Amino acid sequence: MGSTELPYIATNPKIIFFTDFDGTITLKDSNDYLTDNLGYGYTKRRQGNEDVLSGKATFSVKPGFDECIQVLKENMQLDPYFTEFYYWAKENNVPIVVVSSGMRPIISALFEVLLGHKPDPKHLAIVANDVESRDGKDINSPGGWQIKYHDDSHFGHDKSLEIKPYAALPADKRPTLLYAGDGVSDLSAAAETDLLFAKKGHDLIKYCEREGMPFTIFEDWSTILATTKDIHSGKTSPKKVAEEGLEKR
Ligand SMILES: [Mg+2]
Repeated sequence: MGSTELPYIATNPKIIFFTDFDGTITLKDSNDYLTDNLGYGYTKRRQGNEDVLSGKATFSVKPGFDECIQVLKENMQLDPYFTEFYYWAKENNVPIVVVSSGMRPIISALFEVLLGHKPDPKHLAIVANDVESRDGKDINSPGGWQIKYHDDSHFGHDKSLEIKPYAALPADKRPTLLYAGDGVSDLSAAAETDLLFAKKGHDLIKYCEREGMPFTIFEDWSTILATTKDIHSGKTSPKKVAEEGLEKR
């Protein structure tokens, strides 16, 4: 595949911003919310979460898919500062790529709530799992849907696959690659980028320190926006941000 075919560099951006969704743009995890409130509950989820993630157990939520989206729209909280980041990035030709092991139609619906309109697909791409009919049923009927995994990897979605072709570009063509995440499943993806924004108070930070991965800590998207602006203008670099982050600790 020639580098000209890579979609996110079509506009020659200085930066591509890859990001996780659940826990990073939302304040809680939407899959967990569904399981706890409409599925088999918190206790069983804690026992079975690994199996759900690895696809060994069926993600079991009773209501139809439409109803699930409605419940999430009413209950999920999103980081209010993401909206400002979205518009700044759009104006400054910084493509946003959401890489998630969640479900694409859910992510899209939640962005619609946050932004007040559908995200512009030329500016914000969603790479995630999909939803399919279970046993030939209508996905909006009770028990009628299941997750259709994006790839065969352990989490149903190896987030690094989306980033690798960009990381491999020759230096004169390769934009700065940034990543925001909150979980250990973000590590392989973040390793392909120049700087990881790691959410405060999560295990991810310990791993970054151990692996010597360049990272900085964020509490919400206002910090991410400020730092990304400075990297974009050349006021700072991912390397400097990572060094300063370590000094502050
Ligand atoms: Mg997450």
